[in-house]
Amino acid sequence: MLLDSNLDEAKSGKRISAKGYAVAHKSDSFKPFSFSRHPLGENDILIEILYAGICHSDIHSARSEWKEGIYPMVPGHEIAGKVVAVGAKVSKFKVGDYAGVGCMVNSCGECEACRASNEQFCENGKTIFTYDCHDCFHDNEPTFGGYSNNIVVSEKFAINVPQNAPLDKVAPLLCAGITTYSPLKFSGVKKGDKVAVAGFGGLGVMAVKYALQMGAEVYVFARNKNKESEAKKLGVTKLYDSTQNVNERFDLIISTIPTKYDPMEYVNLLKNGGEMAIVGLPPVGEAVPTDLTRLVFAANKKVYGSLIGGIKETQEMMDFSLKHEIYPETEIISIDKINEAYENLTSGKAKFRYVIDMKSLEK
Ligand SMILES: [Zn+2]
Ligand SMILES: [Zn+2]
Repeated sequence: MLLDSNLDEAKSGKRISAKGYAVAHKSDSFKPFSFSRHPLGENDILIEILYAGICHSDIHSARSEWKEGIYPMVPGHEIAGKVVAVGAKVSKFKVGDYAGVGCMVNSCGECEACRASNEQFCENGKTIFTYDCHDCFHDNEPTFGGYSNNIVVSEKFAINVPQNAPLDKVAPLLCAGITTYSPLKFSGVKKGDKVAVAGFGGLGVMAVKYALQMGAEVYVFARNKNKESEAKKLGVTKLYDSTQNVNERFDLIISTIPTKYDPMEYVNLLKNGGEMAIVGLPPVGEAVPTDLTRLVFAANKKVYGSLIGGIKETQEMMDFSLKHEIYPETEIISIDKINEAYENLTSGKAKFRYVIDMKSLEK
């Protein structure tokens, strides 16, 4: 068994052998791939991955749509599994615990951002992303993500997950959950606030669920009017299929729109002092330039970008989600179906978040 040899490797300080699915270049399809991870350090834990979510940014990365990727590439930053070995100085986890890993696996730990647990904004540029990144803490070797059977990670960057948690649904929280939870906290959403969510895909649905749980009155902007019953079922007050003729004004608008659009259409729908958080990313080269004149005349409205969330907040999001049973809608697939899943995600045919059941790797 691979796991047994992993435990021997961990004990003797050797590199940890791993297997997963990778693409060899940006137009390649996913194929089985064997590789190794850095040895278990004294502050590291070794996680046997049980579930890994497929995030839309995995597709952008695998196809080098944001930057030239590092190949071979094993994507995946929505990871949930079981701790199977711990380093000598680990205190947060013991063998047998459940753990999650999101978009980051390390950072400098010393700069102001890191000390404030905003590791995603490390001022020394040492945020190490879970895959497609050179790990300066380990001889600059490339990082490999969650479409695989294990991961070695500093305990500081692993999230505690209780034993009774549904791990398949927990995995996507590590990116889709924190990405939408973080701006709601940053903007201090409270009971009675009017919150609008623009874009009603996977991220949008999560934003709606969190905002409702925080007591907000929630509205949705979606191109597709036939999502109205789904939105109403969640507790959304109203779904708009356009920004025209909207009389409502909002305290916060979260945009999860992943395509080309004009942000000013939404800024104009904010209350005085209202805020707009941008988490969705249009493809590179398709963003609309901001018209500063219109922004000046929009007056006293704040627009900000939000990128995932720090580790402390990710733990807070995990605890909040489990307490209130807030999960994404998921569809479990076997690992040999990744290529199909990518096609469905690209063509818009995918209905739910795909989550890979890693047991399927053994076949
Ligand atoms: Zn993601
Ligand atoms: Zn830092």
